[in-house]
Amino acid sequence: MTNLKIEDDKTRAKRSITWVRLTEALKREGCPICIQLVDSEEKYIRDILYEYVLDVGVRKKLHQKRGLCSRHAKLAIKAERELNSDGLHLATMFETVLEESIRFIDDTISLYREYYSKNTRRRKPPKNIAISNCFICDHINEMEKTFISLFTYYSTDQELHNLYSESESIICYRHLNKLLEDKCDLWVIEKTNEKLKNLITLMKSFIQKHSHEYRSEFSEAELRSWIKTINFFSGEYR
Ligand SMILES: [Zn+2]
Ligand SMILES: [Zn+2]
Repeated sequence: MTNLKIEDDKTRAKRSITWVRLTEALKREGCPICIQLVDSEEKYIRDILYEYVLDVGVRKKLHQKRGLCSRHAKLAIKAERELNSDGLHLATMFETVLEESIRFIDDTISLYREYYSKNTRRRKPPKNIAISNCFICDHINEMEKTFISLFTYYSTDQELHNLYSESESIICYRHLNKLLEDKCDLWVIEKTNEKLKNLITLMKSFIQKHSHEYRSEFSEAELRSWIKTINFFSGEYR
């Protein structure tokens, strides 16, 4: 009876957009978790530029985190250009953040002036400007947790097994570890290692065929083996 209920829940879950996105990611080359992250990162940045330029919450987060990290700054500028915009969205978003930061730096200068002067009781330096991840990084970290637990949820599913077995996708090293920590079905880890064993055979053959004794042609899979190996370690999002 319990099994039947789980089956029903899963069947229902498979009608959701999250399952559709996962299956689409599984059909592509690369890590299915990373692919979903990159897609949702792009969508999140586009949504911010389209809808949240004047949003107080976004400004607050931008100010708290002192702007964007370098990765997301580049992606935001790229998204702005893709909108065929001269920069008005990001300029509007950053206007008050810059004003607030200028005021903050002015205040910090006053505090440091006092700290450096000889006639001060201040013994400890004033609080510095802390730089941490940006709010888009925070959003992506949350998305990553969701995608990992979603994958774990479906990791016993036959349809997922078939999709992963048949596709060129390989879960990256980082997400393999995260799935293990999440107690994902070991089938997924075994299948990934099987794909890696196939990959090392192809790469060895690719290397070997460079010696003069071999005159056979490279297969398409051999030619791509070293790129797939590098991408296994880097993932599409690291
Ligand atoms: Zn990955
Ligand atoms: Zn970031």
